[in-house]
Amino acid sequence: MSSPWRSEFSFIFLALLVGAFLGKVLNSFVIALWFCLLAYLARHLFYANRLLVWLHSGRSGQPPQGDGVWEEIYYLIFRLRRRNKRRKKQLIRMLERFRTATAALPDATVVLGPRDEIDWFNEAAERLLGLRRGDIGQQIGNLLRYPKFSHYMQNADYRSTVSIPSPLADNIQLEIRIVPYGEDLRLLVAQDVTQLRFMERVRSDFVANVSHELRTPLTVLKGYLETLSNADKPMSESYLKVFRRMEEQTIRMESLVDGLLSLTRLESAAHQVVQKRVDVPAMLKNICNEAELLTEERPTIELVLETDADLLGAEQELHSAFSNLILNAVKYTPPAGRVVVRWRDDGKGTRLDVEDTGPGIAQHHIPRLTERFYRVAVDGCKNKGGSGLGLAIVKHALSRHGAELKIMSALGRGSCFSCCFPEERVVRGASQVDAKLAQGL
Ligand code: ADP
Repeated sequence: MSSPWRSEFSFIFLALLVGAFLGKVLNSFVIALWFCLLAYLARHLFYANRLLVWLHSGRSGQPPQGDGVWEEIYYLIFRLRRRNKRRKKQLIRMLERFRTATAALPDATVVLGPRDEIDWFNEAAERLLGLRRGDIGQQIGNLLRYPKFSHYMQNADYRSTVSIPSPLADNIQLEIRIVPYGEDLRLLVAQDVTQLRFMERVRSDFVANVSHELRTPLTVLKGYLETLSNADKPMSESYLKVFRRMEEQTIRMESLVDGLLSLTRLESAAHQVVQKRVDVPAMLKNICNEAELLTEERPTIELVLETDADLLGAEQELHSAFSNLILNAVKYTPPAGRVVVRWRDDGKGTRLDVEDTGPGIAQHHIPRLTERFYRVAVDGCKNKGGSGLGLAIVKHALSRHGAELKIMSALGRGSCFSCCFPEERVVRGASQVDAKLAQGL
């Protein structure tokens, strides 16, 4: 038996002993027993009252004095209170640290509830998003009134980010990302990307300017080289070889400059996609005809038009993407091989597959193929004067049309480059054009 109960039972035993003595004196054991019970009850009420007074006082100091089970009860409650106090202190310290850390964060952080209402935000959110304490409980959409942001919230596709200006200053550019966590809770993180955007613009302006400036001297050089190699006076074979090499390299530099200029144009954020119906079957026929005329020694080119669907978009950008893929297939496939260009409709969008029986590409190169200047040495091809910009252009042009480039290839088994266009871009009949344009595509 534990000691509190032992002392409690000894107390009861003592009370019974006193009762027996009183019963003998008063000559009535019933009255004596009543007295004893009342005394025992009074003792418990006394200690219960002491406990209540102590708890009400809110003092966490030493517990009141008690005996029997009450001493143990007081001590256990005292220990529990002390432990809770310690935990509370730890929590407060942790909360303080969290507050200091979030306050030091340069990014605005807002906790959103299930109905997009603001639950909490840090100091950077006041500075960047202009939120005030009184905005707690308000829906974030009421405070950040930008169509792009509303669309992003409605779409609920949080893999991407959205860029909006700060509500406090138009010249501050914010990139917003939503991170879902817990049950129905989301964290909105807004990063100030003004400097980053500025640097990107400087870089792309620089590339565009350099490429533009290189064009004129290159054209002049190319012209002179052509004149010299076609001169009336026949040249020695070794000189002719040198001129041919120089001509090849100027052509290559020209294609690099053109590629860089196209990429800069595609990357420029202000440059919106022109909305026009593009006759894809006719465009593919033209590109295949051009590819056939390029060289005598080339693989067979087969065009399969499974649908006559068109696309809404920018004709020049789509032409550049499709011709890059088709010309690559022709370039890298040996003359005995075959290139199949297939335009098809899978009900959820349209797709252009450019399939070849060329050398194929090793798996580890595939994720990097769309990087600028990334080239893979192809056996027996010596990269055929490629710039490594073609697939980067394809990727940019497609992403501006909401389309995706998929690459499937295996060494020695050929490659298949697919452009997958979303349903919103597809036009199947004349009446669809106006409807899709009205949707604001
Ligand atoms: P390039 O101007 O060098 O062709 P691209 O960006 O168009 O640049 O292509 C990048 C690399 O991808 C090429 O160097 C080539 O190795 C590889 N590649 C592209 N298309 C094919 C293809 N159809 N078959 C095999 N390799 C290809």
